Amino acid sequence: MPDVRTAEVIAVGTELLLGETHDTNSAELAGSLAALGVDVYWSQRVGDNLERVREALERALGRSDLVVLTGGLGPTDDDLTRDAVACVLGETATVDPALEAWLRERFAAFRRDMPERNLRQAERIPSAEALPNPIGTAPGWLVRVHRDGRDLTVVTLPGPPREMRRMWHHEAVPRLSFGGGALYARTFKTLGVGESDVAVRLGDLTAGANPSVATYAKRDGVHVRVAAKGIDADDARRRAVAVEADVGDLLGDSVWGHDDDTLAELAVAALQRRGATLAVAEVASGGALADLLSDVTGAEGTLGGAVIAWGPETMATLGVATDLLARLPASAAEAVAALATSVRALFDVDYGVAVGPAFPHAGDGADDVSGPDRNESAATRVVIAIAAPGGTTVRPLTFPPLGRAWLRERLAFTSLFLLRSSLS
Ligand code: AMP
Ligand code: MG
Repeated sequence: MPDVRTAEVIAVGTELLLGETHDTNSAELAGSLAALGVDVYWSQRVGDNLERVREALERALGRSDLVVLTGGLGPTDDDLTRDAVACVLGETATVDPALEAWLRERFAAFRRDMPERNLRQAERIPSAEALPNPIGTAPGWLVRVHRDGRDLTVVTLPGPPREMRRMWHHEAVPRLSFGGGALYARTFKTLGVGESDVAVRLGDLTAGANPSVATYAKRDGVHVRVAAKGIDADDARRRAVAVEADVGDLLGDSVWGHDDDTLAELAVAALQRRGATLAVAEVASGGALADLLSDVTGAEGTLGGAVIAWGPETMATLGVATDLLARLPASAAEAVAALATSVRALFDVDYGVAVGPAFPHAGDGADDVSGPDRNESAATRVVIAIAAPGGTTVRPLTFPPLGRAWLRERLAFTSLFLLRSSLS
């Protein structure tokens, strides 16, 4: 079996071109192919149009060993991927009796009559091997093609991401051979340093090709990805080792996690290791912190309470002195600290986290755990306080003017970052 060294994804569907559906399949496949050591130099997105799908496939076969098409395998007239592949390969698709029997059984299992047009999904060209789809009705195809002295492969996958994912990993990948070596990748996740500051710290490291070092500004901070290609997994890891250690040293304390880590999971895990509970009081983050914490499986017993409000009545209920509110923003640090200790006491938990209200930045040089490059003139100040068994810490922070939605989310992530640091 020839090795796949280069691949190209073609996402088929007019809804993808209109921006109605995010083309997540292309991104997922690209990530998987990279991990398999396959080079992806091109990716195409094309509407439900026979001529254009045909043209996209023709072009892809001229430059890539493997072409993966997703979408367009449904039963309706605008599902044209099968027709396009048949046309490009000069074959005629006919109903495969085995696929037809499978499809009819599938409908019978759901006690539904099979519409005749679904028979299209049981079609196959002679050179295609059918890829089973036990969670949908569209089988895929795997076709080996010999063209202009090259051994090529065409794979068709269904559009629904769940079906696409299963078929790719469980049906297509095991039938292919990837001789292009392996990719090793390690992502460092940081918070509190802007992307340009991260780039300055990394210096020349970002200029290398193998291993490569790249920065990405994300919702939860700046991610730095170190990736290396090698002849196998061990070789790839060996090539990355020195640079990975350098990156870790250069980023230091601003690293909060790696790869699939999430701040909320790490913070909850750190609390659970101590058998500790948490309550939050949110003003400028407006529930975003409680939302992140609620997303963590098993966090129910750890999150003891949440308050999302800022007003005299709520503060009185919580026991925050009204004179602190009257003197804002000068009293912000004191008021938010009082809010953290009050919410800790109210819910009888070990840790109380309070995110204060947002005020325009006065420019008095407080420490900064902000996000991307900031524009001082319009920055926002928010105090975050953490009331812990050993005392209360207060952090006045400055954030860039990137809008309310960004600020809410960044405050939530920053609170988790600070909470986790205080737990370590
Ligand atoms: P299809 O196989 O073309 O009938 O696609 C069925 C459904 O899968 C579409 O309605 C989309 O919701 C979804 N879908 C198709 N292509 C993609 C893609 N590239 N990324 C994410 N979802 C997709
Ligand atoms: Mg479609």
